[in-house]
Amino acid sequence: MYPIMYNVTDRPCLVVGGGGVALRKLEALLANGARVTLVTPEPIDALEDLGSDGTITLERRVYRAGEVTDYCLAIAATDDREVNRQVYEEANAAGIPVNVVDDPPLCSFHLPARVQRGKLQIAIASEGEAPFAVRRLRRLLEHRFGHPWAEWMEAAGRFRDTVRALDMDRDEQEASFDAFFGATVDPDTFAVRIPTESEENAFLLPQHDTGPANSEAPARARNHAQADTPLPMGSCTGLVSLVGGGPGDAGLLTLRGRQRMMEADAVVYDRLAATSLPTDLPVHVELHCVGKTAGYHPVPQEEINALIVRLAREGKRVVRLKGGDPYVFGRGSEEAEDLREAGICFEIVPGITSAVAVPAYAGMPVTHRSEAVRATMVTAHESAKSDGPQVRWDLMAQDPHATLLGYMGVTSLPVVVERLLVGGLDPATPAAMISRGTTSAQHVVKAAVAELPKAIIDEDLKPPALFIIGPTVAHAEHLDWFTPRPLHGHRLVLVGKPRELGARLELAGAEVVAVPLPVTPASRIVMGALPISGCVFRNAEEVEALEEERLGLGWGRNVVAWCIDANAAERARRLGWQIIEELGGSVTETDPVSAFLSNATRR
Ligand code: SAH
Repeated sequence: MYPIMYNVTDRPCLVVGGGGVALRKLEALLANGARVTLVTPEPIDALEDLGSDGTITLERRVYRAGEVTDYCLAIAATDDREVNRQVYEEANAAGIPVNVVDDPPLCSFHLPARVQRGKLQIAIASEGEAPFAVRRLRRLLEHRFGHPWAEWMEAAGRFRDTVRALDMDRDEQEASFDAFFGATVDPDTFAVRIPTESEENAFLLPQHDTGPANSEAPARARNHAQADTPLPMGSCTGLVSLVGGGPGDAGLLTLRGRQRMMEADAVVYDRLAATSLPTDLPVHVELHCVGKTAGYHPVPQEEINALIVRLAREGKRVVRLKGGDPYVFGRGSEEAEDLREAGICFEIVPGITSAVAVPAYAGMPVTHRSEAVRATMVTAHESAKSDGPQVRWDLMAQDPHATLLGYMGVTSLPVVVERLLVGGLDPATPAAMISRGTTSAQHVVKAAVAELPKAIIDEDLKPPALFIIGPTVAHAEHLDWFTPRPLHGHRLVLVGKPRELGARLELAGAEVVAVPLPVTPASRIVMGALPISGCVFRNAEEVEALEEERLGLGWGRNVVAWCIDANAAERARRLGWQIIEELGGSVTETDPVSAFLSNATRR
C-alpha cells in the first residue's frame, strides 16, 4: 500500500449510501473541504439535514450507471453489494479512486485511522492486518497528541516561512529548525508549547537578527550560539536546581523544591521521583524523563548530565528532580561536578531521604534513646560489586545499639545478612524491608534479620526498597500510624479543585492525585507513576474530562468510579467503567467523606 494525501478541497466527491457509515465518511470529506454529492433513496435524518441546509448536494434516488465519472473520488456505503460493486467497477475503469466501506476487494484505496490536529494529520494503517490494533493505537495517539498541536503546527509553518525568507544555507536552516523543535516539543510526553516571538528570533542563528524583538532575548540567542563552546572556568551561567523530591509521598516535597519546579523552563526527573511532580506544573514546562529504576537505567548517566548542561546552556531554568535527597546515593554530586565543569550555576535543594521517611511511615524511629544511638546509611549495592570500595559489614555487626539503613538492597540482601551474621550480629535482631514506602503501594516485610532474605522472597517484595536492621524496628508494633488509616492503600484521582474533599480523604489515609482541568502533562505522569485504585467524580463533566486519560493510561477493570452525583454514575456507566460506586445525592449535603469511608472500607 502506497500512502498519499489526496487534495479534495473544493473538488467533487461522491458518496453512495444513506446510513451512519455514509455520514461519517462524508463528514471527514467535508472537514477537508470537499464538495460532496450524496446519492441515496433513503437518507437518515442527519443526512437529510445536511442536504436541506445546502452543506451537501443530496440526490434522493438510486445510483445511476456511469455517474461516478463526474467525480474525483467515490465512497460506497450501501447495504446492497451489487450497487457497491457497480460503483467500484465504474470508478476503477475510469481511474477514479474508490472505496467500498468494509469490503477490501472493492477498494482501490483504504482510509487510514487518523488523528487530526489542525493541519497536522497522523495516519495509522495496517493493510487490514489488525484493525483492532489500529483503533487502539489511534486512541493512544489521540491522547498523546493534545489539541495544542494544531496551534503548534501553525507556529511551525510560520517559522518555516521566516527561515525561508532569510538567506541561510541548508545547515543553518536545519539548525534553526532543530532549535525550534527542541525547545517546543517534549519528546517524552509529546507536550508542545508555542514559542514567543523573541524566542523564535533566538532560534534563528545570530547573524540573521531580524530586528528589535531579538534584543529582548539576547541570553537565549547567545546561549544557543555557544551551545557547543565550553565556557571558561570560573564564570557561571544559567541555573540548575538539583531538587530532592522526597521518598514518594507528594506531600513530602519541600516548599522550595515545588517553587523551583513551578518557575522552571525544564524539569528532568527520575522515575522514582515521578510522584513528586506538581500536578499543576505549568504546561509550558518541558518534562524529560530519564528513567532510572533499580537495575534499569535507560538513559546513561553521562547523557543525563549532558542533557542538563545542554538545557542550561539554552538559557533555561532547569530542575533536576531526584528521589529522596540528591546527595544521598543519588549521584547528585556527580551531576553537580559536571555542571561546575561546564561553568553552569547550580544549587542543591535537599529532600527527605528515604532512610529517614520510609521507616517513619512504617512506625520505626531510626534512633531511640538508649536503644539506638547511631544510625548508619549504607548502600547495599556496593557489596555486590567486586571492584568498588567494600562495606565493612563486620564492623557494623558489632554494635547492638545502632540502626542500619540499607539502600538498593533487594538483590544483595542475602549476602549482606550473611556477612552481618558472620560478623557477630544477633540473628534475632529485628529487621524489615520496605518497598515503595510512604505511598499507597507501601509494602512492609518484617522478620528477624536471619529470616528476612527468605521472607522478602516469600512475600515477593519488589524494589525500590530499603532495609532497616536494629532494635527500633520492634516499635512498629505500636507506632505504625500509616497503614491503620481507613483508606490506606487507595490511590485516588480527584479532578478539578475539590480541596476540602481532597484534604479529608488524605487524612483518612488515601493518596490523592489532584488533577487540574484541562489535564496537564505533569498530572498524567503522576497518575501513571503508581497504580490508581479509583477516581472521585462530582459530576458527569469530570467523568468525561478524564476519559482520554483512562483509555490512554490503560486503567484496568478494578479502578473504581466513586460518583458523588447520579449523573456522574450514569456517564461512567455509559463510558464502560466496570465498578461504579454511587455515593448518593444526599451525602453531598451532609458528609461525603464519611459516606466515602463507609463504602470504601467495605470494599
Ligand atoms: N536519593 C535517594 C536514594 C536513591 S537510591 C534517597 O535519598 O532516598 C534508590 C534507593 O532508595 C532504592 O533502591 C531504595 O533503597 C531507596 N528508596 C527510595 N525511595 C524509596 C521508597 N519510597 N521506599 C523504599 N525505598 C526507597
